[in-house]
Amino acid sequence: MIFSESNAVNPLAPQWLDSAVARQLNSGVWPATATRDAAGELTIGGVRATELLERHGSPLYVIDEHDMRERAASALAAFTEAFNAIGAQVQLHYASKALLSIDIARWMQQAGVGLDVASAGELEVALAAGIDPETIGLHGNNKSDALLARAVEVGVGTVIIDSLTEIDRLAAVAAEFGKRQPVLLRINSGIHADTHSYLATSHEDQKFGITLASAAEAVAKIRGHEALEFRGLHSHIGSSIYSADGFGAAADRLMRLRAELLADGPVPEVNLGGGFGIAYLPSDRPLPLDELARGIAAEVARACAETGTDLPLVTFEPGRSIAGPAGVTLYRVGVTKDVTVSDEHGTPAVRRYVSVDGGMSDNARPAMYRADYCVRLANRESDAPLQLVRVVGSHCESGDIVVYADYLPDDVSYGDILAVPATGAYCFAMASHYNYFDRPAMVAVRDGESRTLVRRITIQDLLAADTASTPEEHP
Ligand code: PLP
Repeated sequence: MIFSESNAVNPLAPQWLDSAVARQLNSGVWPATATRDAAGELTIGGVRATELLERHGSPLYVIDEHDMRERAASALAAFTEAFNAIGAQVQLHYASKALLSIDIARWMQQAGVGLDVASAGELEVALAAGIDPETIGLHGNNKSDALLARAVEVGVGTVIIDSLTEIDRLAAVAAEFGKRQPVLLRINSGIHADTHSYLATSHEDQKFGITLASAAEAVAKIRGHEALEFRGLHSHIGSSIYSADGFGAAADRLMRLRAELLADGPVPEVNLGGGFGIAYLPSDRPLPLDELARGIAAEVARACAETGTDLPLVTFEPGRSIAGPAGVTLYRVGVTKDVTVSDEHGTPAVRRYVSVDGGMSDNARPAMYRADYCVRLANRESDAPLQLVRVVGSHCESGDIVVYADYLPDDVSYGDILAVPATGAYCFAMASHYNYFDRPAMVAVRDGESRTLVRRITIQDLLAADTASTPEEHP
């Protein structure tokens, strides 16, 4: 027998996939304003999917502005409440690597959160947005002298030092400007975060930070420089983490290190990074941020009590949890193809490949991390039977997969619009021009209106950068 339909029994369906929710817009996965109108069409921020693609082209990154602003504000409220309850002050820096444009930087500032930037480009976007440099933290494992100079010149609030050699280089740059630069030291706490290995950033065999064993030497070196002000410690254990345990363990290690360092001078701040997981699938159950914040605050309070130290200013850098659920990518369906494959027991079954007009160039995460997403038909509703599908892109790679497994109505065909939720973080940010594809536009939707945040980068833009396209630059 060949399974081709009813995909409750299709042996290719992963265990977590639940056909009962395949026609729903599950809250937690979709932006707050995502709903279906009376005709069954997906609307986000009050704007219909068809209207969005007609106006802005396909594929399209759609950001629910209210949702993203609200996530920043409620994250700040959750952490403030949890840390004020233990008697500590807290600050949030939005990790702009997740998703950044000039407007988005401003939304974050208006929500009362600072900005963490990790490159010269991110810093320039923040500055172009008019963000107060004092509220910016600069990261990077390999910052150039030019980037350090730019940061010091504009008055970036904190530089997070990532290596021993960076200390002298930054001190020299700050001295040249006649400034005293506040710094944090990024510690590799050795905590093995429970996430994809590429997303774990605090185990031994990776490039970030300074080990606990070398921390005292590094701090002494920083304190020895007049041009540097040692503000404290930083730890980021990884990204897409669903449990509080790793954060608690990292907090404990940092507070104990801080207790030792307090013997020789002040350590006013501890930054515990970001990495809070979100729901990509209806079956995902991330810990609510307020619970997570309370869990981490309890660990901080306990470690400070045990070491007899005062509470530091505690800072966090959430990115994905603010941007991720606010974003949806819309695609047009092209070719559909049924492929018969054998499951692990040799039973033949049909997998329907649904090709869309984007792919790994607008969402690299499935190819990079084997990340799972879900998908819904956006331009209409259909009560056709459900079919197990794999949504794939249009690139020249068999790993060019957008959604590994979900159910779509059997009648999905050429010209339909598909919506993939939870694409606000690390999709636009990681986009490429592979195969000379356009980078889709990113629009904000709000109160029935759509507005372009970043326009489409087209083949004309790319050709303009190719010197052979302009004979005067390419004699
Ligand atoms: N802080 C640092 C230093 C990071 O490297 C990252 C992500 O890689 C973040 C914060 C944000 O992580 P997330 O977007 O998972 O919250």
